[in-house]
Amino acid sequence: MPDRIVSATSTDGSISIAAGVTTNLVAEVRQRHDLSPTASAALGRLMTGAALLGTGLKGRERLSLQIAADGPLGNLIADVTTSKGGTIGARGYVAHPTVDVPLNGRGKFDVGRAVGRGRMQVTLSYEVGQPYVGIVELASGEIGDDIAAYLMRSQQIPSVVALGVLANPRGIKAAGGAIAQVMPGADEGAIAQLEERARSMPPITSQIDRGATPDDLIATLAGPLSMRRLGENELAFRCRCTPQRVEVALVALGTDELSRMAEEQPQTEAVCEFCRRRYVLSRDEMHGLIRRIEKRHESGR
Ligand SMILES: [Zn+2]
Repeated sequence: MPDRIVSATSTDGSISIAAGVTTNLVAEVRQRHDLSPTASAALGRLMTGAALLGTGLKGRERLSLQIAADGPLGNLIADVTTSKGGTIGARGYVAHPTVDVPLNGRGKFDVGRAVGRGRMQVTLSYEVGQPYVGIVELASGEIGDDIAAYLMRSQQIPSVVALGVLANPRGIKAAGGAIAQVMPGADEGAIAQLEERARSMPPITSQIDRGATPDDLIATLAGPLSMRRLGENELAFRCRCTPQRVEVALVALGTDELSRMAEEQPQTEAVCEFCRRRYVLSRDEMHGLIRRIEKRHESGR
């Protein structure tokens, strides 16, 4: 079954919830990037969070979550777009994918330690006009807390964010999450009740591992509230890299460096850091690229 995200709002208007199962997505990212278990948990949570926040995207809008922090994993990026059919496409990057750290005192992945301290930047790019950029200090580096901190500090939205990845050295057993946001005008009790239900519910990954669907996750978080389903999106790994974009990245190296690369090896290999796809340019193609850059410089004079 493909990964799915479902969104719903309570009929009393107090909360909205997006919940998703992202097991296949995280398994694919783990495989593409050869992620360690802790890196799988960190990047899997970040991509799940981005996908859940991305359910409201329209057309060619794009949402990205970028973490710049001092932990052993280095920087992390997750970004999502939507396609015409409503499928959410997600991709991710982590600077040091194979780094692992020991489990924490509670026997869980120590994502907070692996990520470290730093900032998260949220960028929402629209089809036209300036992108929206929000930057927050990381709350704990556990990703869920950090997204909740962003929603509170940048958007003034109280929320409960539960993200989880159940991984072992052989792969991903379950992944998914839910983001419940308190709507403007809701009474004070709404957030307290929501937090209480989030605290008392079984971990997201054990619910998913036992077969819970996004609708089940919503029902658990909603408790006695009656919910109205707004819609659902499929979710899939998708990268936007193309041979043209790889060329643009190579051009940025400059003609001297490109000439050196073409001299040194019969083929130049470029790897997309989001999907690990390999692009191979022959020596002839490299020389063609260098000639095109030089021509452009001459005509620019
Ligand atoms: Zn790519």
